[in-house]
Amino acid sequence: MYQGACLCGSVKFEIEGEFEHFYLCHCSYCRKDTGSAHAANLFSKFAKITWLSGESDLKVFRLEDTRHNKCFCQHCGSALPVQVNNSAMLVVPAGCLDSDIQLKPDANIFVGSKANWDNKLEQIKAFSGFPE
Ligand SMILES: [Zn+2]
Ligand SMILES: [Zn+2]
Repeated sequence: MYQGACLCGSVKFEIEGEFEHFYLCHCSYCRKDTGSAHAANLFSKFAKITWLSGESDLKVFRLEDTRHNKCFCQHCGSALPVQVNNSAMLVVPAGCLDSDIQLKPDANIFVGSKANWDNKLEQIKAFSGFPE
């Protein structure tokens, strides 16, 4: 069982079941919609989602002529789970979960279209909080 919520707390949900895949997607759509180097999405064919609150605050954006979808909270814009392929697949942005995830990412995908600054990021200086 996984728990998750958006940043403003309007939307809360639970997911029962396990994820089959965990991909870091560096495609240009994911870079735009996350504002970051890559999306981090969990995928499951069997997990069930239950919306505990805020279901009416969900918005889904589907990018025409692509398979790209984004579900978000209409108040705070946080990325939230979305059903795709006629609800055959649940896609969950890893960052919206409050529970620990046992799965490690399976792979980086669409690295052919990654940002030019997205290179060996694990090797740069790191601070536990704000930079000193
Ligand atoms: Zn919100
Ligand atoms: Zn992508």
